[in-house]
Amino acid sequence: SNIIAIVGRPNVGKSTLFNRLIEQKKAIMDNLSGVTRDRHYGYGQWTGRFFTVIDTGGYVHGSEDKFEGAIREQVELAIEEAAVLLFVVDCSTGLTDLDKDFANVLRRSKKPVILIANKADTHEKAYAAAEFYELGLGDPFAIAAESGSGTGDMLDVMVSHFKDEGIENPELGIPRVAILGRPNVGKSSFLNAILGKDRSIVTDEAGTTRDAIQNHYTMFGKDFIITDTAGIRRKARIDDNIEYYSVLRSMKALEECDVAIIIIDATTIDPLTGLEAQDMNIVSMADKAKKGIVLMINKWDLVAKDTNTAIQLEKAIKERMAPLNYMPVIFTSVMEKKRIFQALELMLKVYENRTQKISTSKLNDVMLDVIASYPPPAWKGKYIKIKYCTQVSTPYPTFIFFCNLPQYIKESYERYLENQMRKAFNLEGTPISLFFRKK
Ligand code: GDP
Repeated sequence: SNIIAIVGRPNVGKSTLFNRLIEQKKAIMDNLSGVTRDRHYGYGQWTGRFFTVIDTGGYVHGSEDKFEGAIREQVELAIEEAAVLLFVVDCSTGLTDLDKDFANVLRRSKKPVILIANKADTHEKAYAAAEFYELGLGDPFAIAAESGSGTGDMLDVMVSHFKDEGIENPELGIPRVAILGRPNVGKSSFLNAILGKDRSIVTDEAGTTRDAIQNHYTMFGKDFIITDTAGIRRKARIDDNIEYYSVLRSMKALEECDVAIIIIDATTIDPLTGLEAQDMNIVSMADKAKKGIVLMINKWDLVAKDTNTAIQLEKAIKERMAPLNYMPVIFTSVMEKKRIFQALELMLKVYENRTQKISTSKLNDVMLDVIASYPPPAWKGKYIKIKYCTQVSTPYPTFIFFCNLPQYIKESYERYLENQMRKAFNLEGTPISLFFRKK
């Protein structure tokens, strides 16, 4: 795909440009230099052509300092991955030695470099951009990333360097995960543990609406996107209905995800009655939305337990939740950092289960036997015959059973088929749908 890297010394406006390109407030911004240290990924589109943007942290050439060394490595990696480099300099401060160092590194990369003179909010500053010719990287584009002025011409040139047509959205095929759960279960702590504590430095302009942040994350070579809704929480005022916002937030996050990790506070689970009603509501919401589900029982450190407690509790929970009990359960302690990465691995497994395609022959091999051993009950003396089944392609596993009298298949029989399918195939954590159709 078309990968764009934004590079430049600290404080020139790389994160602002990044946000402009992906049209959302994603990178964490701060006026302190060097706050955006990690590479951030996002996806943008210009005139129907998609691209991936990498925002790199600050970079000081030739520094002996270990921290700077790590940043340099990241920039070099970004340069390696990118098809086009957006080199940002700052009109308000003018050309610096560091800019020249950068220019040297970038010229050596032999990649197309687009020189961007940012913060050209006034005509005077835009004229000042001329001094950057000296870098030997061609015409500077005078832009103001904050308002977006001047970015159109720059983007036209950028897409002209694309080798890949880029007509497919690169986000397709990357698992998107939402972290759901009632207040205080540990959602925020979990996100901090996996995304790093930097995410708490979210500076929000008062009164502006803000979407959930999509964090691109790589673990063991697998990519996924975690929705962080912490920012939306801030919209609620003291006199607002917190519960209402919390449900709204969950619904929005759900809508945009493939798999939901639903966090439950272990101390609120009663071995006799199972999950509390509010937790069950979230599970049922995710099931109705046909999303993958992982149940993460958190604060496990607070529960008195022996070697069998987890197994017994899981069994009790699942019995109580039936028939909504197809999801994997994991016991975690975010505080003690126990099994939090296993929770993510489970999420990836559920994603695989949800997006798999079972071949028609394999499906019929299993299901025709299942049907033969317990055929659908006859209706008013008429035999109901299921001839074959097939998986249709939808975002989650959906199967069509072709039969002579589809309208007389009972729900209990559908349940039987679903249970048998779950036994035979890897469908843990994913809702499935069965349809009956006349052949
Ligand atoms: P959120 O409202 O779901 O985002 O919950 P928070 O992440 O803010 O956590 C609520 C409280 O639970 C905080 O005081 C956390 O420190 C605490 N907490 C989170 N995870 C654990 C855990 O695994 N064990 C214990 N004992 N406390 C936790």
